[in-house]
Amino acid sequence: MSERTPAEFHPETVAAAYGVASDTAFGAVAPPLYLSSTYEFAGFDAPRAYDYGRVGNPTRDLVAEAIARLEGGAGAVMTPSGMAALDLLIGRLPAGSLVLAPHDCYGGTMRLLKARAELGQIRLALVDQSDTEVFEGQLRDHPALVLIETPSNPLLRVVDIAALSTLAKNAGARVVVDNTFLSPALQQPLSLGADYVLHSTTKFLNGHSDVIAGAVIAADPEEAKKLKHWANVTGAIAAPFDCWLTLRGLRTLFARMAGQERNAMAVAERLRGHPAVARVHYPGLADHPDHALACRQQRGFGAMMSFELAGGVPAVRRFVAAVRAFTLAESLGGVESLVAHPATMTHADMGPQARANAGIGDGLLRLSVGLEHIDDLLAGLEAGLQAIDG
Ligand SMILES: *Cc1c(COP(=O)(O)O)cnc(C)c1O
Repeated sequence: MSERTPAEFHPETVAAAYGVASDTAFGAVAPPLYLSSTYEFAGFDAPRAYDYGRVGNPTRDLVAEAIARLEGGAGAVMTPSGMAALDLLIGRLPAGSLVLAPHDCYGGTMRLLKARAELGQIRLALVDQSDTEVFEGQLRDHPALVLIETPSNPLLRVVDIAALSTLAKNAGARVVVDNTFLSPALQQPLSLGADYVLHSTTKFLNGHSDVIAGAVIAADPEEAKKLKHWANVTGAIAAPFDCWLTLRGLRTLFARMAGQERNAMAVAERLRGHPAVARVHYPGLADHPDHALACRQQRGFGAMMSFELAGGVPAVRRFVAAVRAFTLAESLGGVESLVAHPATMTHADMGPQARANAGIGDGLLRLSVGLEHIDDLLAGLEAGLQAIDG
């Protein structure tokens, strides 16, 4: 398979064509979907490449290899969700290990880490990773694993992966970066010094809002093998059909990211000039506090943004009732545009105090910008914004 996509091939080619025309049975161009849970032995004591579906599956391995190539890793494991991907890493830590995570990490990540900490399985420290002094202070407690999430959700804050990775690794920690918001098309954490990349492939990698799945990619070949072994031990494996759909979604990753980012930039610029909008959080805007870092670290600014309505909750209520072209829903990264209200949806569990500390106001709305015609998106937002005064 991989000789059809040689090492010098560009990432766009890997995404579009990894594993194409590799079917030895019938010469199928699109890689077939293997649902079988078990595989015939060639004879006594003669297993073939695959024996049992938890250990390995051709469809799962194909998408894992493609994602590993895109991230520049040695190997990847496909898991049933992004949360299962994180838990795969956490599950391999010795009991009582310290995990250092951002104070504003993804809500499900926070819930999982806190639950594991409450059971005494790990120790957890939450830190504002944009404050290097505080971060360095925490490293003195020798964390086993440092989780980085950039850009952050929902405020799109960007932290320096290379700088934090160097500090963390000098302190003896392993570094995992949640790359869900940008995908390897726009950011490659392993090339910046991270040991692992984590994905909710539910989002941009699949890109069509019809699969829940995740992935862990390891820079080191031995680590990749250990993770694959651990996925077999714990049974944290993605289903073949989900893997097949994800590979199909991956084909258009670069085209989707480029088109969605172009739309996002136009949306951000329009929102910024609007009187009903107090603030726009998009790293692609030159006045975003982390714009320079995003330019250095990322290949693009992505399709996620948030903005604050000056009129607070009453304005939000009118906006979401009148907005068109954007669907009111959680999740992100699909070809269709979504709008979410973090305070009552994605970040409701945090509670008002923690939200206030993290800077998530009641007037904040998050957008995942899709591939629709930009005029429809702008007109749809305008309909929502006009309703605020009405
Ligand atoms: C959605 C998401 C996750 C969790 O992934 P699931 O596939 O929903 O389990 C983790 N991290 C980030 C940044 C996400 O957006």
